[in-house]
Amino acid sequence: MATVHSYGAAEVVTGSCHLIQLQCGTTILVDCGMFQGLVEERNHKPFGFDPSEVDYLLITHGHLDHVGRIPKLVKEGFKGMIVTHRSTMDLAEIVLLDSAHLMEESYKTAFRKAQRRGKEREIPKPLYEREDVYAIFALPVRYTEYDEPIKLGSDILVNFKNAGHILDSAIIEIHIEEEGAKKSIVFSGDLGNDYDLVMSSPDIPEEAETLFIESTYGDRNHRGAQESSQELQRVILETFARGGNVLIPSFAIERTQEILCLLKQMYDRGDLPVCQVFLDSPMAIRATEVYKQYQEELSAQCQKYLERDGTIFDFPYLHYTLTVQDSRKINEVDSRCIIIAGAGMCNGGRILQHFKHRLWDERNALVFVGYQVEGTLGREIIDGAKRISIYHEEIIVKASVHTINGFSAHADQSGLIAWMEGFKKLGKVFLIHGERKKQEIFQSVIMKRLGKKAHIVKFAERIGV
Ligand SMILES: [Zn+2]
Repeated sequence: MATVHSYGAAEVVTGSCHLIQLQCGTTILVDCGMFQGLVEERNHKPFGFDPSEVDYLLITHGHLDHVGRIPKLVKEGFKGMIVTHRSTMDLAEIVLLDSAHLMEESYKTAFRKAQRRGKEREIPKPLYEREDVYAIFALPVRYTEYDEPIKLGSDILVNFKNAGHILDSAIIEIHIEEEGAKKSIVFSGDLGNDYDLVMSSPDIPEEAETLFIESTYGDRNHRGAQESSQELQRVILETFARGGNVLIPSFAIERTQEILCLLKQMYDRGDLPVCQVFLDSPMAIRATEVYKQYQEELSAQCQKYLERDGTIFDFPYLHYTLTVQDSRKINEVDSRCIIIAGAGMCNGGRILQHFKHRLWDERNALVFVGYQVEGTLGREIIDGAKRISIYHEEIIVKASVHTINGFSAHADQSGLIAWMEGFKKLGKVFLIHGERKKQEIFQSVIMKRLGKKAHIVKFAERIGV
């Protein structure tokens, strides 16, 4: 019997990492992501398995919570083969170099402070550095395409299907033959929406004896895409009317491109007043370049823009501010600007400068367009914090705060249920990648709608499949 161990994204939404041990002796790892927010310290703990014994690393997509611990994996002995899309490796490089940079910077700051107390030896080294990121790219990689099954050894076939979540994100089907019996294990990866502007709808595999499904939004339904777009437009108009500006903390990959497409759509319709839109995130600018490089993979809407304008994301009000000088100049703009900046959960990045500059001013608006993990500044503000601390300075939150979840790159409860209903044959269901309370709600909905008892996976739990 094969076994699956969940070494991340068990009862939390980050740190995705699932180890599959097959009877034939082959060991496969699906994703190796970073823990974020409250569970961040887990990154420094041992994996729970020996990285040198992993034969294959399959990567569903390039988000940090799915690739963030790969440099640690390599540092600790992984020498196997990576199987993923070429664009996923490109995005992973951007994400991991950024992550290594942030860790190096915070290590330096902590080290300097500790030095003054004579306690620098107590400061833990960064999880990894840039050289560790480069080491990944020296490993053998087998690039895949959707629905082009790849044989790994004689009894294993893996197939990547479109998950519709970010560029080339995948649902991974693993077909194995053990003791003459065929089995399929499916990992949903992160699943997208049917109405995403940039990505096409997720595929649905035909069957799975065992399904590991994400459950980020298993407890709720998003507001519709149109409703969300109208809400964003309303916030923009109201904010501009009172002489303010709109701040949008955004994830560099996918959410940013989705918001750009949405603003372009408003501009096209004549619904976006004359303004300046700043994409103030070097990482998001680089990610947008990767999207452009693989533009043929994007939605039908993107293809229309490409045909009409020769570009998917650009429109006259949009400015890319790559340098620090250009970023600082945005501070001089008094009103009618929209600033899209990272980090998506406000735990670093240029958005903090904009918070410092504008959050205390009631004319401005702050719009959250993505999931805010527990323990992040974004979550603190959403939960109602009226005063926050940025670089040890207290800032009062007077800007209006809005959460528009319809832009989420994750399917909502109805989307997840509809996706499961699409399987011709579905066996056991295991819930991963979700907060416990939300998973419990999703579990009861699955029972009601599909008559299935879904199991909530615990950390390091061993599951026979
Ligand atoms: Zn993701």
